[in-house]
Amino acid sequence: MKDKSKLIQDFKNIAGNKYVFTAKLNKEPFSKGWRYGKGDALAVIKPGSLVEMWHILELSVKEDLIIIMQAANTGLTGGSTPFGEDYDRPIIIINTMRINSIQIINNGNQIIGLAGSTLYDLENKLKPLGKEPHSVIGSTSIGASIVGGVCNNSGGSLVKRGPAYTELALYAKVNKNGKLELINELDINLGSNPEEILKNLENFNYNDNDIINSQKLASDNKYSSIVREIDSDTPARFNADSRLLYGASGSAGKIAVFAVRLDTYPIPNKNQVFYVGSNDPDVFWKLRRDILSKFKNLPTSGDYLHRDCYDAAKKYSKDTFIVIEKLGTNFLPTLFELKRKVDHISKKTSFLPNNLSDKIMQFLSNFWPNHLPKRIEKYRERFEHHWIIEMSDEGIDEARDFFKKFFKVNEGDFFECNKKEGKKAILHRFTAASAFGRYSALNEENIGGTMSMDIAFPRNEKNWFEVLPKDIDDMFEMKLYYGHLFCHVLHQNYIIKSGVDPVKLKEKLFKTYDNRGAEYPSEHNVGHEYDAKSTLKNFYKNLDPTNTFNPGIGRTSKLKNWE
Ligand SMILES: Cc1cc2nc3c(=O)[nH]c(=O)nc-3n(C[C@H](O)[C@H](O)[C@H](O)COP(=O)(O)OP(=O)(O)OC[C@H]3O[C@@H](n4cnc5c(N)ncnc54)[C@H](O)[C@@H]3O)c2cc1C
Repeated sequence: MKDKSKLIQDFKNIAGNKYVFTAKLNKEPFSKGWRYGKGDALAVIKPGSLVEMWHILELSVKEDLIIIMQAANTGLTGGSTPFGEDYDRPIIIINTMRINSIQIINNGNQIIGLAGSTLYDLENKLKPLGKEPHSVIGSTSIGASIVGGVCNNSGGSLVKRGPAYTELALYAKVNKNGKLELINELDINLGSNPEEILKNLENFNYNDNDIINSQKLASDNKYSSIVREIDSDTPARFNADSRLLYGASGSAGKIAVFAVRLDTYPIPNKNQVFYVGSNDPDVFWKLRRDILSKFKNLPTSGDYLHRDCYDAAKKYSKDTFIVIEKLGTNFLPTLFELKRKVDHISKKTSFLPNNLSDKIMQFLSNFWPNHLPKRIEKYRERFEHHWIIEMSDEGIDEARDFFKKFFKVNEGDFFECNKKEGKKAILHRFTAASAFGRYSALNEENIGGTMSMDIAFPRNEKNWFEVLPKDIDDMFEMKLYYGHLFCHVLHQNYIIKSGVDPVKLKEKLFKTYDNRGAEYPSEHNVGHEYDAKSTLKNFYKNLDPTNTFNPGIGRTSKLKNWE
């Protein structure tokens, strides 16, 4: 590697002084995971165009650097940041969020999302066309990117559409001879050399005749039938599923993606959220089977929340809920920036407590009146298990008729949310993901750590609600369960009691999941938290034979050429 300061100057000459960060405080938002993992990097670079991104890649490969590609950094398993210190080469992080344009093609039936474009912007851009994005995930509301979702095969809430998937992408890889190559699988004629291709794409300099419409998929076209197979003894979706590993899809940062092409979907004329409660997991098991096997219309989404998780979210995610509801998603990056600065100062100042920002936000949230609707609160009193089911168009009457009959003979109840209740119910469920982090930040000194499991159960699993053997159960202080119940994807978040060995506990838990035929992770991808199964490992090795990109992912080798 050339002289470090000369190298940094070269990166600055490409991206501009303002967009190359080398100071610790400035690098932290990019070198620390949302919930898991952190490490250091020589620099964080934020290119402003696809061509700048290409030049940064060229220089990094020439200098034998490790490259970590990053978008919004909302990944939950540490897969978008460095992890630890045992890397054999210096690392640069390329954050793509400045390259955020979205192009509408094929009369609005497809879009091209450039590297840092977001699901939130996509939703807004498609609305006037009467279209919706391929994907709605919990982190749509906090700025997750389109490309990050494809790279993770992110799943989310949509029962009809399945994980983010496309066979149409433009990306760079380092081949086995260590040479950077641009692979144009977008199926758009954009030119012959990398700069020409990237410039033409960025400037929307192509026309309808340049767009090839072949059999290649721009979404998962099989999921809606897969999810209906309720007697199958395998999960409907999980990250190591070879069916969904292709180019950018599932690549987890082992290449550098410039753009992806994806399908869009018509916005339904009508949507209706049903709030469903029961005290018996078997009732939800029966309900799930009936809806998936008998309904003509699949639900749009169906997210589950256990009462303990409901309570934790009500208390610890209240400020996040209020900020999103009142100020909108666009304000969140400013808030997170402020939060990081406050925490950094408190860490450096001995008389201030750790996690000061969490403590301030938690304190302030106490003064805000209850943010949850009365009817939902009543269900919290009555029921342990909550299911927020959204139906559209003809599915609304179908569900209404069915629920009326179903709850005449089964324990539990339902009601139809008005618009405000529906929105709040869904936001409450999505912000529940942050309750766990807040609780552990506030109680850091008194707990033995945290564990967050992202589990896909077989489609025929009857005992979907976890009942742990007493010896394992006793090791937890708190368990928070939520998930995408139609897909049988459960997020099981555990707060461990002080004094418990988390490594041994994790092994025990994994054994219980294995015994039930589960796959994990189901949608958050392996990051540095889970082992990559051989299907994934081989996919990564093929994409990145020299192990230049995001080495160590899936707890694989961090060394050059996978040594
Ligand atoms: C509150 C919350 C709720 C969430 N809800 C869900 C959910 O419902 N379902 C779900 O599946 N996930 C969920 N997640 C996880 C996460 O948001 C998703 O994985 C998301 O798709 C990541 O998008 P991102 O833009 O943040 O990508 P990042 O985290 O920045 O990156 C994700 C992966 O993509 C790679 N990558 C990013 N950009 C590029 C590029 N240009 N080229 C190559 N590789 C690249 C990174 O290296 C990394 O491996 C949630 C997270 C949070 C914090």
